[in-house]
Amino acid sequence: MSRTPFVAGNWKMHKTIAEAEAFVSGLLPLVGAVDDVQVGVCVPFPAIQAVVESTRGSAVQVYAQNVHWAEQGAYTGEVSIPMLDELEVAGVVIGHSERRQYFGETDADLSKKLPAILAAGLEPILCVGETEAQRDGGEMEQVLRGQVEEAIADVDAADLARITIAYEPIWAIGTGKVATPDQAQEACAFVRSLVAGRDAGAAEQVRIQYGGSVKPDNAAELLALPDVDGALVGGAALEPQSFAGIVEGA
Ligand code: PEP
Repeated sequence: MSRTPFVAGNWKMHKTIAEAEAFVSGLLPLVGAVDDVQVGVCVPFPAIQAVVESTRGSAVQVYAQNVHWAEQGAYTGEVSIPMLDELEVAGVVIGHSERRQYFGETDADLSKKLPAILAAGLEPILCVGETEAQRDGGEMEQVLRGQVEEAIADVDAADLARITIAYEPIWAIGTGKVATPDQAQEACAFVRSLVAGRDAGAAEQVRIQYGGSVKPDNAAELLALPDVDGALVGGAALEPQSFAGIVEGA
């Protein structure tokens, strides 16, 4: 089964509208016509509309960085799926370790978000990953199993293949401490086996990204691994040249 590689840049809480537009102007000449790699940028809410407009007709897709599962309601500060859909985003990244750590996002929350996102026709990127202490304590598989199995529990088997799962070991995020190819392959293959536990066909199709200190000089090696189908990139996605260098590595 050949899976189209998917490289997504997560801007986190970076870039005003003007900065986002400048980034897109720099990026499009570099990756705007790429057709063998899916390219996405995960944009803070205020800049989404501008980035959707400035990437229209290009190969670059726009993702949000969070969403609520309810259609509407008394959830001050939250954004709904219909609101994102109206902005014409391609999808949304959920369960990033920063949202889990600082904003209390739980696997139970994600199990409500995933079916709602998929039902709206948007594409989710689900982030999972273990801390250094969990890895050192031999708990990596147990942690990943808990995160993946609970998050996808209420997703129809027919929709599973539309989920992209980003395996992001927390100790590698923003630290410069990238997983070795063996570590990345082992964990991504394990994540795929968890999807296979629900549906073997979906597991063959689902894209699994590696995330954690991916840079232009390590991307090609990581993205060539059999169970790594792309990358979720933080720091190196803030600047068009380095992000394009990672897309090239795919
Ligand atoms: C991330 O924020 O998802 C990430 C992987 O960050 P970085 O590439 O900077 O490690």
